[in-house]
Amino acid sequence: MTTPRPTLNQLEMLGDFIRRHIGPSPEQTREMLAELGLSDLEQIIDQALPADILNTEPLKLTETISENAVIKHLRKIRERNKVFTSLIGMGYYDTVMPAVIKRNMLENPGWYTAYTPYQAEVSQGRLEALLNFQQMVIDLTGMEIANASLLDEATAAAEAMTMARRLSRSTSPTVFVDQDCHPQTIAVVQTRARSLGYRVIVGDPYQGLDTHDFFTIIVQYPGSQGEIRDLHEIVGIARQKSALVTVAADLLSLVLLKPPAAFGADIVVGSAQRFGVPMGYGGPHAAFFATKDEYKRSMPGRIIGVSKDSHGQIALRMALQTREQHIRRDKATSNICTSQVLLAVIAGFYAVYHGADGLRMIAGRVHRYAQILAAGLTLMGHEVVNRCYFDTIVVRVPNRAKRIAAQAMEATINLRVIDPDHLGISLDETTTRNTIRAVWQVFAAPAAEFPDINRLHKTIEECIPDDLLRADPILRHPVFARYHSETEMMRYMRRLARRDIALDRSMIPLGSCTMKLNAATEMQSLSYHEFNGLHPFAPLYQTLGYQQMFAELEDMLCDLTGFDAFSLQPNAGSQGEYTGLLVIRKYHEVSGQGQRNVCLIPASAHGTNPASAVLAGLKVVVVACDDNGNVSLDDLKAKLDEHRDTVAALMITYPSTHGVFEEAFRTLCDLVHAYGGQVYLDGANFNALVGLSRPGRLGADVAHLNLHKTFSIPHGGGGPGVGPIGVGAHLAPYLPDHPVVKGVNPNKGRYGTVGTVAAAPWGSASIYTISWAYIAMMGAAGLKKATLTAILNANYIAKRLAPHYPILYTGKNGWVAHECIIDCRAFKHACGITVEDIAKRLIDFGFHAPTVSFPVPETLMIEPTESESKAEIDRFCDALIAIRGEIAEIEAGRADPENNVLKHAPHTHRLLFEDWALPYSRQQAFFPGNHQQDDKYWPPVGRIDNVYGDRHVVCTCPPMEDYQ
Ligand SMILES: *Cc1c(COP(=O)(O)O)cnc(C)c1O
Repeated sequence: MTTPRPTLNQLEMLGDFIRRHIGPSPEQTREMLAELGLSDLEQIIDQALPADILNTEPLKLTETISENAVIKHLRKIRERNKVFTSLIGMGYYDTVMPAVIKRNMLENPGWYTAYTPYQAEVSQGRLEALLNFQQMVIDLTGMEIANASLLDEATAAAEAMTMARRLSRSTSPTVFVDQDCHPQTIAVVQTRARSLGYRVIVGDPYQGLDTHDFFTIIVQYPGSQGEIRDLHEIVGIARQKSALVTVAADLLSLVLLKPPAAFGADIVVGSAQRFGVPMGYGGPHAAFFATKDEYKRSMPGRIIGVSKDSHGQIALRMALQTREQHIRRDKATSNICTSQVLLAVIAGFYAVYHGADGLRMIAGRVHRYAQILAAGLTLMGHEVVNRCYFDTIVVRVPNRAKRIAAQAMEATINLRVIDPDHLGISLDETTTRNTIRAVWQVFAAPAAEFPDINRLHKTIEECIPDDLLRADPILRHPVFARYHSETEMMRYMRRLARRDIALDRSMIPLGSCTMKLNAATEMQSLSYHEFNGLHPFAPLYQTLGYQQMFAELEDMLCDLTGFDAFSLQPNAGSQGEYTGLLVIRKYHEVSGQGQRNVCLIPASAHGTNPASAVLAGLKVVVVACDDNGNVSLDDLKAKLDEHRDTVAALMITYPSTHGVFEEAFRTLCDLVHAYGGQVYLDGANFNALVGLSRPGRLGADVAHLNLHKTFSIPHGGGGPGVGPIGVGAHLAPYLPDHPVVKGVNPNKGRYGTVGTVAAAPWGSASIYTISWAYIAMMGAAGLKKATLTAILNANYIAKRLAPHYPILYTGKNGWVAHECIIDCRAFKHACGITVEDIAKRLIDFGFHAPTVSFPVPETLMIEPTESESKAEIDRFCDALIAIRGEIAEIEAGRADPENNVLKHAPHTHRLLFEDWALPYSRQQAFFPGNHQQDDKYWPPVGRIDNVYGDRHVVCTCPPMEDYQ
């Protein structure tokens, strides 16, 4: 007997992760290849891909490392990050994520691998969690309606500005921004205003405001430097000018303070970060956005609303979706698609777990410590500038700000240096007596005696006057009172998670959204304090680990895409689009071609494309597609001719949103360049190209990548996401920079950059570790294999389904790329069955539906990704084929067109309480195709009435009596 001798690679466990990430076993891969008439994965390249897009140069990413080695390497990187006590404030505060939430939610794939809740019946858990978030925001701001999160506070303020433009009757082109807003908020608003042609005045709104004319004003409450001011007068002046008032507010302070609504604010925005979400060196966090009921249809982002299901029971869904870019395109209210669901859910749970009393305790403690700190500093002879504050004070230290801040760093404390004479100090939930003493120590003369904290606590008086304090109760809904013990909380989160279909239950075959594995090893570093404990404005010498990781990730992405530089700032694909288009505009301006303002976009494009183009100040011109779904070369030529002097860019998705590799990609690029335009590539479908093709070398000038699609960052139920952009060398100088952290764009030249597009310098920094780990473990060979397997899986599905459903578009040799569209239009005509019926019937089989009606109405777009095994894919195909059989029964007149198993889908347990009156068996209703007999997914609600929900928009938690 001999023991098997491992190969050298096996000795080091190299490539082990590749076979864990890729779903099909070698045997299954062979079977699927055989089904398609091939014997080797590499043959797919010749079969499916146009020869002229293939990369011929070797990649630098030759190495792979094992899962163990990645964790070790990340540990080394994290040691280079130094976590100081952060008292910088400016919108980011240390906080405590309750362990019960961390373990059962943040680290639970049932929550983080879920998709955006378009299929509401299989998303009731996270919809309830988001409704809690909205209720919390409504309670704390006092406003009438809130959305289910935006990307960050600064972009939320920019969204408020554009919403105000739509609503205000003022003809003024001016936005007035409070100089005491956070600097990153001012910068992002300025960037957005510039491209839309608005004028920005940054000034003091408490002096001479009536001498200005403006259509909207944005004020910070409390101010970035801590002062709490009465907003009545500002609101009064704004009213006279028909201007809308946006208040950027701190959520924790609102627990104690008079809410912005009480002053008459029109819009309230802010960050929910300090509700249990770590700073993470900038993100991801959920921003909130609240407004008046009358403005709800103009509101950006997603809103969760209450409707009813087919049994008349309460059921939740996303409301008013017709406002969204998917439908409204260049007339959309904003370009937001992916937002920050996971983080909003955490913040909502934080409020549920603490309840009103708990939050009051936390806010009260932070505020009391701030007063004690200030009183002590005053006793020690320092001048505290603020009169009325919540958690932030400014200390006047003539000419000594830098020196004292340096002393503070010696004591591992970061303070905010406002100018040479002023330091800012912001306290938070983690502040203790020791923090206060340590700060005093920094400010003290060497042998000074410290004040007695207990005595100060007893003697100092409240600095906030009564009329700025909150009088009304908050969080009165029972959900905020029920789950305060850890047992109850754990069970509540588990109960909600069970209602949803996420990747931990079955495949989510969403075309264009690439729902692949989010491996446990990739997620590990999210739990490391050295990654999530850093303030985004911490001095760079404390964040060397992050700097190293960014540099390595940028190198990897350049290598894979063929671009020369990357910006990690945009925190969603839509934001990458907007940023990339700004970069193109800036390039034209610098080249003396500032008149170029037309963006050509194919008819098949994702709705964010036209919406982003409008935000970037471009005029959208649609280019037609031909019968095969490809961009029509004739129409492109015609449009280029028509706009020959004004064409700024062609925005194109490759492979196309129709799931095929167009043959003419290079021709399209050459053509656009010949007319002086730039090519923007929407990289959402990059999973079909990684390791095979480098768009930066094919003629694309800019592309965004959705790292939450192609590079393994989980969807989180609708965010976080990140949309970094890659550019050619000629565009690198214009990539975003940041007003607080210098050096974000090292290529910045004398013409400046496009400005700032997100609150944090490197966007959602903490989740970049996920993509970094994914690429490191896969290496060039693994990534290429993943891409080929994704294409194989999609073509195998197309092959299996083709006899039952027409495949709408195919490319070379009848092959699709990494996704395929099945055409269901004929069913509607023949027997009234819609694509929605099919989507809902899939729920009875335990599956989440594919992408519905995008990019073509009444079709399903299926993308399996490389992570799904043949067994799972077969199970899914079997379900769709069985459903096709059920449709055939209706077509043949053997089943009723209205009263049938598709129209009644999904079938819930409630049917079991009634006499069975349906014309088919319980078995067919609940256990079709003998699926999941031992492990049935029971949808918690029946089909949801969308029309009812949009007519009666309710976006708060329904009273408990309404359940039953
Ligand atoms: C997902 C997607 C986008 C938008 O990306 P977000 O991260 O959701 O903002 C844009 N284009 C296409 C083709 C997409 O699939």
